[in-house]
Amino acid sequence: MIVTKKKSFEEVLELINEYNKIILIGCGDCATLCKTGGEEEVLELKKQLEDKGKSVVYTSVIDTACDQRLVKLEIKKFPKEYDCILSLSCGSGAQAISSLIGKPIFPATDTLYAGVTKRIGDFKKMCLLCGRCIIGEYAGICPITMCSKSLLNGPCGGSDNGKCETDPDKDCAWQLIFDRLKEQKKLHILDSYKEPKEWNIK
Ligand code: SF4
Ligand code: SF4
Repeated sequence: MIVTKKKSFEEVLELINEYNKIILIGCGDCATLCKTGGEEEVLELKKQLEDKGKSVVYTSVIDTACDQRLVKLEIKKFPKEYDCILSLSCGSGAQAISSLIGKPIFPATDTLYAGVTKRIGDFKKMCLLCGRCIIGEYAGICPITMCSKSLLNGPCGGSDNGKCETDPDKDCAWQLIFDRLKEQKKLHILDSYKEPKEWNIK
């Protein structure tokens, strides 16, 4: 699940300030589950834009907006005349569209992270898509995402009663890693220093 959040309407309006005829494209997959880019949100944004005097000339929710095969089919239905596109999907979906057309495209959402779905609209940040997964060395818990300092050799020393020093409501990732490794009888893994991550591997 790619988790997105809506940009404020004021920011969206500023982005398309110089354009009048707008196409709105949502996504029936992650953005619908996030309540940022489904049918409801597309219609809500359409109304908001029209109330500000903009002309929304076409709207659609593509089943999976990051699937270029579906995007290609949708583009064929676009009206001939329009000024720009507002994408209500994640950045990947928006670029699936922008890679196929030359018209200006703007994001109506911000893309945050990959997460797990606890309930509809309630997600937990799990992965920052770093390009080379190392959770096997950390008892299946991602230190990059879950530790506030992304420490590969933790803990930092600020943890208090299992909570992170940056946020008392947040579990210390390194406490979780320690507890899990202890349970697995693999604490010796923490004896070795972990080299800095090679961020260039994609
Ligand atoms: S190490 Fe963390 S951020 Fe990188 S791919 Fe694995 S879960 Fe995602
Ligand atoms: S208290 Fe724990 S989670 Fe917070 S920054 Fe330190 S090691 Fe990371």
